[in-house]
Amino acid sequence: MNQISAPQLPDMNAVWQETLNWQPTPEQQVLFQQLFELIIQFNQQLNLTRITEPQEFWEKHLWDSLRGISFLLSEKNLLSPGTKFIDIGTGGGFPGIALAIIFPESSVTLLDSTRKKITALTTILEELKINNTIPWVGRAEALGQHPKHRESYDFALLRAVAPPSVSAEYALPLLKVGGTAILYRGHWTPEEEQQLISAVKQLGGVLESVDGFTTPLTQSIRHCLYLKKVRPTAKQYPRAIGIPGQKPL
Ligand code: SAM
Repeated sequence: MNQISAPQLPDMNAVWQETLNWQPTPEQQVLFQQLFELIIQFNQQLNLTRITEPQEFWEKHLWDSLRGISFLLSEKNLLSPGTKFIDIGTGGGFPGIALAIIFPESSVTLLDSTRKKITALTTILEELKINNTIPWVGRAEALGQHPKHRESYDFALLRAVAPPSVSAEYALPLLKVGGTAILYRGHWTPEEEQQLISAVKQLGGVLESVDGFTTPLTQSIRHCLYLKKVRPTAKQYPRAIGIPGQKPL
C-alpha cells in the first residue's frame, strides 16, 4: 500500500476540557493521531470512512464517540477491569476503538458483518499495539443467539447502523441484565421515541434517558439514547438475520 501522510489532528485539549471535563493523556493523543494516519492509509483501498479531514475526524469520530460515554469519564466507579463493551456495526472502528484507547482495562468487541473492514481494523489494532479489542466478523442477529455472547456485555454501542428499534433488537439480547445500550443518533422525534419505547419493552429493557446536544465545532445536532436492560430478553430475540430490519418491532 502507498504510504500517504496524514495531517496532524488539531490540538483540542481546551475543547475536551470544556465539553467533557476531561482530556486525553499525551499517550492517548499519540494513539489518536496514529489511528487517524492508519485509517487514512487503509481508506485508499477500502471505504472505512468518508470523514478524512483532521478537524472533522476529531469532531465526528473521536469527540462524538466519547461524548456518548462521557458519564463513564466522570464516574470511573461504573467501570471495573474487564468491563465488556461491544460496538455493533463498528465500520471504520467508531465508537469502539476510541473507547478501547481510553479504557485500556476494558474489553471492546468490534463487530461488523463486512469481513474486509474487520481485517483492516485487525491490522490497524496490531500496528497500534492495542490489545484490549476483539475484532469479530458477523451479524448482530447471529451473535445475539450465540451462547458465549448472549447476555454477556455491560455496554453495547451502535452508531449509524440501523433504525432505533432495530438497533435495540441487535443490542439488548447481548447485554447482561443491568447493562446499557447506547444508540448514537442525529435528530430525534417524539414519534421515534414512542416506537422505541414499545420495542425496548418487548426486549426486556427500558428507555432510561435521551441526551440531546450539539457538537462543539460545527454545532451539529446529536442525540444519545440510553437503554437499560431490566430483565432477560425472550429467547425469540434477536430474530433471524434480516428480520429485525424487514419487520422492525
Ligand atoms: N459505527 C460506524 C460509524 O458510526 O462510523 C460505522 C457505521 S456504517 C454506516 C454501518 C456498519 O454496520 C457497516 O460497516 C455494516 O457492515 C455494519 N452492519 C450493518 N448491519 C449489521 C448487522 N446486522 N450486524 C453487524 N454489522 C452490521
